[in-house]
Amino acid sequence: MPLALRSHELWRELEAASGESLYRRTGGLIVASEAAGPNAFHGQAGFFGQTIALAQRFGIAHELLDAAAIRDRFPAFLAAEGDRGYLEADAGVLFPERIVAAQLQQAERHGAVLRLGERVLGVEPQGAAVTVRTDRGQLSAARVIVAAGAWMPALGGAGFGAGLRVLRQALLWFRADEPALFAPERCPVFIWLHASGAAGSMYGFPMIDGVAGVKVASEQDTLECEPDRVERTVGDAEASAVFEQHLRGRLRGVTPQVVRTATCLYTSTADAAFRIRPHPDSDAITLVSACSGHGFKHSAALGEALAQRALGQAPQLALDAFTGPR
Ligand SMILES: Cc1cc2nc3c(=O)[nH]c(=O)nc-3n(C[C@H](O)[C@H](O)[C@H](O)COP(=O)(O)OP(=O)(O)OC[C@H]3O[C@@H](n4cnc5c(N)ncnc54)[C@H](O)[C@@H]3O)c2cc1C
Repeated sequence: MPLALRSHELWRELEAASGESLYRRTGGLIVASEAAGPNAFHGQAGFFGQTIALAQRFGIAHELLDAAAIRDRFPAFLAAEGDRGYLEADAGVLFPERIVAAQLQQAERHGAVLRLGERVLGVEPQGAAVTVRTDRGQLSAARVIVAAGAWMPALGGAGFGAGLRVLRQALLWFRADEPALFAPERCPVFIWLHASGAAGSMYGFPMIDGVAGVKVASEQDTLECEPDRVERTVGDAEASAVFEQHLRGRLRGVTPQVVRTATCLYTSTADAAFRIRPHPDSDAITLVSACSGHGFKHSAALGEALAQRALGQAPQLALDAFTGPR
């Protein structure tokens, strides 16, 4: 079963177990402008064409729209002649903060001991076991899975960290003159490929998080940073560059006025794939960097398979697919 489909099942199970609403079906729209050509997104060349091919291969319900149909069905999008749309009705928005809270709650309910706020300083093989040193002491375990996000280059060691790039990304919420157009009933989650190259695409969300603005972001893959020394402020110049480059003339009634910003970190491999490998000195330690800007939606199924393997069970997923020479 493909990773994304197994994760979708698991999100549903978590919703049932926690009683929380963790996913909102809004539909997902990818708009590809002629100027984008076979634009790459998330490191995948021909992202638009590949998405259609995969949907056909896995029988994922979708529609292809021309510019007039995009404008007609989703007036928030000022699609120009020649723009094409891929619409997937079952796509939607996951609520990461609620999901992580529900996962921690379920883990505790199943006997997990959570040591929140404790910083891991090192993970070392100790004979057949593993020692985890922290800022509060140390632990010994038979199996350890390390998934420390942007801190994996440091915690995973030079071999594992080679080629992993930590990239700051900015998220911005812009004021909308016609907020009703961006309500989740009328506006899908969206990706717009409007020019070639990493700087030629943006993505965004319907107004679904209570903030009085439309949340959008693009991607940068040039400036690397240290996770503990990140510029967390999104300045006026950066915000107006995002508006002018990605939004002006594309989203109806969205103004340059910023109502909120945030920053976040991608941990990316050269081809935007995931990296999951045993520690070079011990199979009892598994090192995981499943990001490249698109790992959250897959994390449930990956986490399940990693836990199954750590418990000596047959993993539901072929984890070996993620160990290659990325
Ligand atoms: C702007 C942005 C938009 C994104 N959009 C999407 C999207 O739409 N869909 C999608 O699927 N993915 C998306 N992602 C990617 C997604 O957020 C990541 O792929 C995912 O969070 C990676 O999960 P992880 O568990 O590997 O790392 P993280 O989620 O970063 O978790 C790592 C955890 O380890 C902790 N940690 C680190 N070092 C230590 C230490 N020494 N001791 C103790 N704890 C430590 C950190 O505090 C953190 O809580 C986006 C990412 C960004 C930055």
